[in-house]
Amino acid sequence: MKALKLIGPGKIQIQEVPVPEIGPDEVLIKVVGAGLCHSDLHILHQGQDWPFFGTTMGHETAGHIESLGTHVTDFAVGDPVLVHAVWACGQCRPCSVGRENACSVNGSRNQFPLTPGIGADGGMAEYIKARAKHVDRLGAVDVVTAAPLADAGLTPMHAIRSVRDLLLDDSTVVVIGIGGLGHIALQILRATSRCRIIAVDIDEARLAAARRNGADQVLHAGSDAVRTILAESDNYGVDVVLDFVGAQSTIDFATGVVAPEGAIRIVGLAGGSFPFNASLEGEVLPWGVNVQRSYGGTPADQAEVLALVAEQRVNVDVVKYPLAEAQRAFDDLEAGRISGRAILVP
Ligand code: NAD
Ligand code: ZN
Ligand code: ZN
Repeated sequence: MKALKLIGPGKIQIQEVPVPEIGPDEVLIKVVGAGLCHSDLHILHQGQDWPFFGTTMGHETAGHIESLGTHVTDFAVGDPVLVHAVWACGQCRPCSVGRENACSVNGSRNQFPLTPGIGADGGMAEYIKARAKHVDRLGAVDVVTAAPLADAGLTPMHAIRSVRDLLLDDSTVVVIGIGGLGHIALQILRATSRCRIIAVDIDEARLAAARRNGADQVLHAGSDAVRTILAESDNYGVDVVLDFVGAQSTIDFATGVVAPEGAIRIVGLAGGSFPFNASLEGEVLPWGVNVQRSYGGTPADQAEVLALVAEQRVNVDVVKYPLAEAQRAFDDLEAGRISGRAILVP
């Protein structure tokens, strides 16, 4: 079969490899679509020490069950399925209390849990194998556009669920970065809250898309946007900021507009930082602000986002590329030419 391998820093290549052989608890899935995440670009730009060269890329995968391991009883050949992006053990203490994204067996204090496309072969291929427990049946959800739900749907859902107590009818939430994750975050917020939603991006087309996806107000990123948000809130700030970029400018933005006792969720990985000093004066953050470095999500988050898609309250905006043209898709993502999510189709 054809598979897209990460072969070295900045280098991907389609290779001919054997179809995976499955164990008793696994299923083989014929891939229909594999989402291309901005994290795949971060991975592509890791240095020579990156431990996962040789892996098939892709942590967002949807397809049909092709064959079942001998112990698998809850799927049938042909079922449309979504492969999880977080391959947790399901049994450790974090997993048993619903924190599978912090699994202590398949992940560690410094490493997120096992992920297809990073530590194991992923979905940018004709077939992928996965443990049956890491697969969800898609039911009413369209398999052709489902792949991004494994991460671009899951991760915003997790971040939003973690701030739900702050999303009151008169709250304001700022969403920064309206790409693959951000455009779904807007729709989840619209479908599950009545709060006021402000979308921020550097790209006018993304801001136009943000309005279609539920934003009440759109702002071009920059210091004017900070001033606007503060002026509109009597200089007090907003309840929640979701940062799907994580650059220095967006973290400055988030800390610059969040209100006391508000929350910041930093999802993007663009290398920004902020100083934290436990001091009475000169602190960047207002008192009481809760900041989380948000990772992936849990099966409960996945189920909630799948339900919203099945009810057509969330729709993924996709652009399809043949798997053979993966390099073009990566180049287009890097150049900011993809609106919504790119899906590679084998
Ligand atoms: P994307 O490329 O689809 O979208 C990024 C968006 O951010 C684009 O609309 C772009 O115009 C906008 N943007 C870029 N720079 C900006 C700036 N300075 N100010 C405002 N907007 C800006 O990316 P994506 O796939 O949605 O991923 C977003 C980020 O989240 C990436 O860093 C990715 O690696 C990360 N990510 C993290 C997790 C996690 O679990 N923490 C999971 C998935 C993705
Ligand atoms: Zn991702
Ligand atoms: Zn676990």
